[in-house]
Amino acid sequence: MRPTVGLAVHTAGGPVLPWSFERRDPRPHDVAVAITYCGVCYSDVEAVRGAREPNLPLVPGHEFVGRVSAVGDLVTSFRVGDSVAVGNCVDSCGACEECLAGQQNHCTDGGPTLTYLGVDRHDGRRTQGGWSTEYVADEAWVYRLPDGLDPAPAAPLLCAGITSWEALRHWEIGPGSTIGIVGIGGLGHLGVKFAKALGAEVVAFTLTPENVADIKALGADDVVVSSDPDALAAQARRFDFILDTASRAHDLSPYLRALRLHGTMCLLGIPPTVEVETRALRVGRHSLAGSGTGSPARVREMLDFCAEHGIVADVDVLPSTQLATALDRLERGDVKYRLVLDLADLTERAS
Ligand SMILES: [Zn+2]
Ligand SMILES: [Zn+2]
Repeated sequence: MRPTVGLAVHTAGGPVLPWSFERRDPRPHDVAVAITYCGVCYSDVEAVRGAREPNLPLVPGHEFVGRVSAVGDLVTSFRVGDSVAVGNCVDSCGACEECLAGQQNHCTDGGPTLTYLGVDRHDGRRTQGGWSTEYVADEAWVYRLPDGLDPAPAAPLLCAGITSWEALRHWEIGPGSTIGIVGIGGLGHLGVKFAKALGAEVVAFTLTPENVADIKALGADDVVVSSDPDALAAQARRFDFILDTASRAHDLSPYLRALRLHGTMCLLGIPPTVEVETRALRVGRHSLAGSGTGSPARVREMLDFCAEHGIVADVDVLPSTQLATALDRLERGDVKYRLVLDLADLTERAS
């Protein structure tokens, strides 16, 4: 077994503290990754705040980069020292209709194995996440980090990035599309960069008037302050597609009315339920859709695109000792646009 140090929630409602545990030795197709940087996602905050038995201790973290530290006997695509990245899923059944169609992120056999809060399909152990010194995963779910992508700001591509990218690619956003992006945080700011580089006209919706100039600097063609009802109403029938990344409940109707004929609004944020004014769907034959993370092939496609277009996240990098501050800042919305933990200090504590 491989001795590992993680940042774990030990008791329900308790703080996140270093924890020594063991990863499995690499199986024939496994890659061990010495983690250098891991992002802090809003879903990590929810995992920390909601952690309880039987999931304790719990190590969150599901968008990280590092270097290959060991490989299984049958691994041919990676060597020790390679720069790699891992995202929010690390396995799937490989046999269901969705897996066979290359949509492993929609695996119907209990879902894909999550990077943390999952159960390994082979040894039955609970998975522990990337706020740790090392991770071990099947090579099919480990991604080569292209040369030229700075590792720390590349880490958020593996959750925030792929979630936006999957939707933009599924709905074939490109030249000629006019799209809206609601909520300019981790997912939304990458959505703006991706959509612009894909050739779309991009309009950002933010609640924060003081952020307008910064959001334009990300590449948005226009920014609408969504707390202004008149500004929202003025968007009627403007968009082919709206990507809604907001994680807090809000009224969808003004956005549905902002769609053109046959336009789609896709929800990426995670309010558990939403209310829909059905007339705003009927008029214009609008669609309300949802989307999540992407398949391994989609992640590789995104990383290639990012390397080609020089896209990474805008991040604040914090030492892992400042995790509590990171969680508080994320809850307050005091982040532009993603926080990333530098895990070098954790590695030092482990050695
Ligand atoms: Zn995430
Ligand atoms: Zn499957």
